[in-house]
Amino acid sequence: MFKPLDLSENDNHNQSVSSEVERVKCLIIGSGPAGYTAAIYAARANLAPVMYEGLQPGGQLTTTTEVENFPGYPEGVTGPVLMEDLKAQAKRFGTDIRWGIATKVDFSGEIHKVWIDEKKLIEAETVIIATGATAKYLGLEDEKKYAGSGVSACATCDGFFYRGKDVAVVGGGDTAAEEAIYLAGLASKVYLIVRRNELRASKVMQDRVFRTKNIEVLWEHQTKALFGDGVVEGAVLWKKKGTPEEEEVKIKIDGFFLAIGHKPNSDFVKDFIDTDEVGYIKTIPGTSKTNVPGVFACGDVQDPVYRQAVTAAGSGCMAAIDAERYLSEKHG
Ligand code: NDP
Repeated sequence: MFKPLDLSENDNHNQSVSSEVERVKCLIIGSGPAGYTAAIYAARANLAPVMYEGLQPGGQLTTTTEVENFPGYPEGVTGPVLMEDLKAQAKRFGTDIRWGIATKVDFSGEIHKVWIDEKKLIEAETVIIATGATAKYLGLEDEKKYAGSGVSACATCDGFFYRGKDVAVVGGGDTAAEEAIYLAGLASKVYLIVRRNELRASKVMQDRVFRTKNIEVLWEHQTKALFGDGVVEGAVLWKKKGTPEEEEVKIKIDGFFLAIGHKPNSDFVKDFIDTDEVGYIKTIPGTSKTNVPGVFACGDVQDPVYRQAVTAAGSGCMAAIDAERYLSEKHG
């Protein structure tokens, strides 16, 4: 029998502004390596997944330079290209990928309600939370004062503006090391402000930092304030804060980059989903299951330990398989 083509069915453009309720089998929130991998598996298992990409489509890796540790790319790959590849693979199997941010949830019933952009309501049999984590700030007033005027949490996004200038990166982990090395290729001088007398970064990244001539590591330094007329012109640091040798040091910089870790993006589900004290979603060990049946979590939003693209992708696969098994048990 002839069935008229329902154009609204695959029209992604108006989805997030419609006020009607939509019922889906599997809703994926977030589009990093975890979300896309969950989408690939869910789509291939006929769950017809709908994905909302969130604030930063492609997730944190879209702001990374070279990714050298994702299996399958012997020469390395840039973060944005890797994410485009994952997205294309998710689309190939029919994932319905849309713009929009999940702003509110109600997980009290058997059908899970998720509001997109505070307007559209999705009723989902299963929900996969893959919302990742967001860069942390030190909490200084000056970070807000100079936001967009010299303060940044993304060297690959903003480094371009500091060609030939002096900048500082705060942090001692792999992100800080990576950002400092990236910026050293653009800026004339990079200070790496490290609060302890050692780096947390992996050995290979540490070696690269130490080999880069225009990076100066400021050991046991912490930031007290930033100064400048409208834009950042320098920073006031404490050296050996809280010790008898404590002293104040001023550096002249044009850019101040934060690289001190991330906060999991779980606030919008915290009334229903159990998290740890930092906000990482708790999952039943060895699974992606949360405390709510039919709601699963994967990637950085539930992983305080590994936080790698490949582990995020692996956990996305687990979430889709868990969702598929949940649905087949439910429907018999
Ligand atoms: P980490 O948590 O590993 O490191 C955070 C760093 O910031 C630490 O050095 C920490 O100091 C410092 N820090 C935290 N709070 C403050 C503060 N208030 N003031 C000053 N310094 C502070 O975060 P990353 O983002 O670096 O890395 C997260 C994960 O991602 C890690 O597992 C890492 O290995 C991985 N990663 C891997 C990459 C790669 O392989 N290419 C690239 C980037 C990240 P302290 O050491 O004293 O606690």
